[in-house]
Amino acid sequence: SSRQLLQPLSVAAVAAVEGQRVVVLVIGGGGREHALCYALKRSHSCDAVFCAPGNAGISNSGDATCIADLDVLDGDAVISFCRKWSVGLVVVGPEAPLVSGLANKLVKAGIPTFGPSSEAAALEGSKNFMKNLCDKYGIPTAKYKTFTDPNAAKQYIQEEGAPIVVKADGLAAGKGVIVAMTLEEAYEAVDSMLLKNAFGSAGCRVIIEEFLEGEEASFFALVDGENAIPLESAQDHKRVGDGDTGPNTGGMGAYSPAPVLTKELQSVVMESIILPTVKGMSAEGCKFVGVLYAGLMIEKKSGLPKLIEYNVRFGDPECQVLMVRLESDLAEVLLAACRGELTGVTLNWSPGSAMVVVMASKGYPGSYEKGSEIQNLEEAEQVAPSVKIFHAGTALDADGNFIATGGRVLGVTAKGKDVEEAQDRAYLAVEEINWPGGFYRRDIGWRALPQKQFATRE
Ligand code: AMP
Repeated sequence: SSRQLLQPLSVAAVAAVEGQRVVVLVIGGGGREHALCYALKRSHSCDAVFCAPGNAGISNSGDATCIADLDVLDGDAVISFCRKWSVGLVVVGPEAPLVSGLANKLVKAGIPTFGPSSEAAALEGSKNFMKNLCDKYGIPTAKYKTFTDPNAAKQYIQEEGAPIVVKADGLAAGKGVIVAMTLEEAYEAVDSMLLKNAFGSAGCRVIIEEFLEGEEASFFALVDGENAIPLESAQDHKRVGDGDTGPNTGGMGAYSPAPVLTKELQSVVMESIILPTVKGMSAEGCKFVGVLYAGLMIEKKSGLPKLIEYNVRFGDPECQVLMVRLESDLAEVLLAACRGELTGVTLNWSPGSAMVVVMASKGYPGSYEKGSEIQNLEEAEQVAPSVKIFHAGTALDADGNFIATGGRVLGVTAKGKDVEEAQDRAYLAVEEINWPGGFYRRDIGWRALPQKQFATRE
């Protein structure tokens, strides 16, 4: 009967409640998931960590046991795995399994799952949904209107004037946003999305949005359905090239804390943006459990934060710097979030800074070759104190050598007493790695270290 089927799980759930150790499954296989496994492995309340599909570097480091052949988009397969191994907590890293409804299925099966339902994931998946929520609950964001008719869209653009921002409604792999400095650019963006179908169904509705001027910042919070607690600040580097040049990427490096977000600003963000979102989602019958990652613009004219976008997961590579700084028991905190018990939880962070420098395959974010060999990883981790290398896209070849299998491949991370020390250590490790097929930015952290801008490291 279904009751019997549930048994191994309830043992795990009871164990967790009684303060015993819990078995955790992390879903995903990138640098972010490696960092989550690393932090979970060090949690006293965590008994064992599985990662599906994981990657070669995650298993090699011993941070988790990887289950490469578990199909994470197949909810039933994940549920069977959890029952077999008494998994008492599932942490979902990437957006695809969330959007596919993995968290819905796991929660329905009684498995504590950190990550939003597919309905709640619409905060990221549909800009229109996010904007409507902002309207209804008074959350500050750029003024906007939604269109499906290109002529009506262009008329509105003409009325508003440039600069103006044109966005595809749905997920467009980070490419669905055009910040148009002229009317012509904006018209062209509308045509490419609504007439030429540049983003498929993601672009059959466009949002025309007021251009916000100011400094961008990211803000992360853990959410338990009714309440939220802030994480430390972190700042990523989206462009591929030094000096923030070249095309956008998934992120080429990050550091934490990020000076842009002062303590005062953080509490304004919690009160005016994060908490109203959490309450609003709950009122809409769409409780959000997971990480809210807010992309903000600190407006020049008012100094106040406005919401640009939400992601419903940890940022990658921001997660890497947050996880090496987190001193609290991550498994315990995420379980508390799953149970709606985050109120009063405080997180401890190592003082000082952390930095991650991403090493990517030459050619990324365009086309790149796979299979180039990477050497000296062990030596690199020893070259300075507190260096940790997270793997995002590696495999082991037949001879046991690491080879690159993705665009972003390694997240070389280090802590230090300040950003400068973290940077020195991270780059020492980067330089120790022997990977002719890879490249990295040489200026991660430049905003925090203006005197070292475009640090020359030959
Ligand atoms: P999004 O995918 O919504 O985060 O947009 C991608 C990037 O476009 C943001 O990180 C900003 O740099 C820029 N952007 C988005 N919306 C606006 C806006 N309303 N005003 C100015 N820049 C924006």
